[in-house]
Amino acid sequence: MADLTHGLSTAELTELTNRSIAAKETAYCPYSKFRVGCAILCNDGTWITGGNVENASYPVGICAERTALVKAISEGKRGFRALGVATDVKPPSSPCGMCRQFIREFADLNMPIFMYDIDGGYEVMTLGQLLPMSFGPDSLPPPSEMAKLSKE
Ligand SMILES: [Zn+2]
Repeated sequence: MADLTHGLSTAELTELTNRSIAAKETAYCPYSKFRVGCAILCNDGTWITGGNVENASYPVGICAERTALVKAISEGKRGFRALGVATDVKPPSSPCGMCRQFIREFADLNMPIFMYDIDGGYEVMTLGQLLPMSFGPDSLPPPSEMAKLSKE
């Protein structure tokens, strides 16, 4: 059995690194100039990437992680093995709070998130480490139970 890093083969980790860094080129960030690239390895073996997309109305912008995940979900992808996010700073940036929650909707808590600095070095943490005591789909009672609760 080949060595695995958080469940990824050496080749997969290299590809995650390269795709995350390359995705910075797709960023639309004329205001902050802060490029972010994201790559996601889907359970079916395919890759989805995205960059941050800013807007003249600043709060309307969307982070690279959510760009990539929205692309994945809207293309029917379910189940993800790893997510990489790359920036042009060092030490590496981690996903913002909103993105951590967004990822939580669709990924297992043990999914690794690789955070790349400008030199391609990385730190890695699981989603559960980045978002402890998180609130997810499994935190909500089923709709039938919710209806009962509101009547009590
Ligand atoms: Zn974010």
